[in-house]
Amino acid sequence: MPGLTLYNSLTRSLEAFEPLDQARGVRVYSCGPTVYNYAHLGNLRAYVFTDTLSRTLTWKGYPLTHIINITDVGHLTSDADAGDDKMEAAARAQARSIWEIAAHYTDAFKANIRDLNIREPSRWSVATDHIAEMIDFAKQIAIDHCYELDTGLYFDTSTVADYGRLAGAQDDAAEGRIDPVAGKRHPQDFAIWRKSPPGEQRQMEWDSPWGMGAPGWHLECSVMSLKYLGAPFDIHTGGIDHREIHHPNEIAQNQAFCGCSDSGAHFWMHNNFLVDRSGKMSKSKGGFTTLQSLIDAGVHPLAYRLLCLQAHYRSELEFSTENLAAALVRLKRMIKVVDVQLWREYEATGDAVNHPSRYLPIPREKWAEADVAGVLTDFEAAISQDLNTPRCLPLLEEVLVDPTIDNTKRWHLIATIDEVLGLNLLSTRRSDLRIRPASATVCAEDIEARLVERKEARAGKDFARSDAIRDELAAAGVEVMDGDPLGWDWKPAL
Ligand code: AMP
Ligand code: ZN
Repeated sequence: MPGLTLYNSLTRSLEAFEPLDQARGVRVYSCGPTVYNYAHLGNLRAYVFTDTLSRTLTWKGYPLTHIINITDVGHLTSDADAGDDKMEAAARAQARSIWEIAAHYTDAFKANIRDLNIREPSRWSVATDHIAEMIDFAKQIAIDHCYELDTGLYFDTSTVADYGRLAGAQDDAAEGRIDPVAGKRHPQDFAIWRKSPPGEQRQMEWDSPWGMGAPGWHLECSVMSLKYLGAPFDIHTGGIDHREIHHPNEIAQNQAFCGCSDSGAHFWMHNNFLVDRSGKMSKSKGGFTTLQSLIDAGVHPLAYRLLCLQAHYRSELEFSTENLAAALVRLKRMIKVVDVQLWREYEATGDAVNHPSRYLPIPREKWAEADVAGVLTDFEAAISQDLNTPRCLPLLEEVLVDPTIDNTKRWHLIATIDEVLGLNLLSTRRSDLRIRPASATVCAEDIEARLVERKEARAGKDFARSDAIRDELAAAGVEVMDGDPLGWDWKPAL
């Protein structure tokens, strides 16, 4: 089988991937969401990427342990070392307890994960469940690598070899984001324990050898990855912003803890950003686009998944209504083939044995016998090349329409490929793709009835009436699509 090649940010190069420990399988840690607000679409791109990675590893037959953390403490309102914790600030602003805030946004995040057909990790690891372990970890590195100031316990980055090697050329912008703290020995030094300001009681604070306070954000990922995966483990993921500060700091802690130069993970992988030129993709500034807002506008969430897959995870991806609408059309086109050829055939026969769920992925050892090795090897070569999903999609589309492939084989092939791409192609119906916008003032039946009236008006050459109906529907948020090649007579206006 084609070997897996992945881009390692640590070496800035493509490297052949092999598990460090074949018997344990592949161990992956992904930096998870900070649950003080809803995830925006950019955040969710990071998890479509990790899902593609973990699906690919599983598809290639590796046993997988995947941890995603939930940051419910310690992430400050900037990359600063002093100041407000994002969770505390959100709790104050909403007059709710931090625990309520964390529970609410964690649930919302997990709903996004389900809507995007992202597989659950082996474990969601919650930061506040690991405070004692974080204190133990800090105690072990404190003497040789840390110093205490009035504001907290700081990591001295000059005590480890090659600090910041992951970030590559020192990024001035990243350094500029770190507010100066009086007494810090080097600008890059960071808090691993933040003391509560004197006379101030925080909602989330714990006792420690350095006084009441809370852990610094970077500490949790070192502690939880080590606890659940051991060190070194195979792959650590996060958004590209983490390559500059969060991950170099995790690496420094890992080096201090092991007393070696090991970064803690074999591969460090980073997804590039989803960018929105209108500047709407900032979680801390608010006013951003959530997955739920797309669903409320009538867009199926898997259209967003497809939008992500259309770009390589290391490329910037531009978000716009037009790009999203184009991805939705592409998804509709794929689903239409399955709906018309597979589902309608099944409905016509009504024979339970023909139910589409009978088309299961073909196990690798049966590829040759099922005569699908050619197609699947091409697909595997593309996904194995640093998860090249944009190259996988045309291969999938070819399988959908290739007249030389017989239908039984076609649906098994789609099931096999969809294990990696996660577009739910065999279980989503055309009708599922048409989501009623939350603000819609008409229901689908009304729209269909108005379209029948319009057809009659056009047949009678009453174009004024036909136009008036189209305008009325437009006012209700429905775009009439005359002559749509996919046979959709209308869609919610985006
Ligand atoms: P946060 O909840 O802010 O800690 O971020 C969760 C994940 O989203 C992290 O891996 C970030 O690096 C990633 N991320 C943040 N903004 C974007 C963006 N615009 N595009 C892609 N990934 C992002
Ligand atoms: Zn992290």
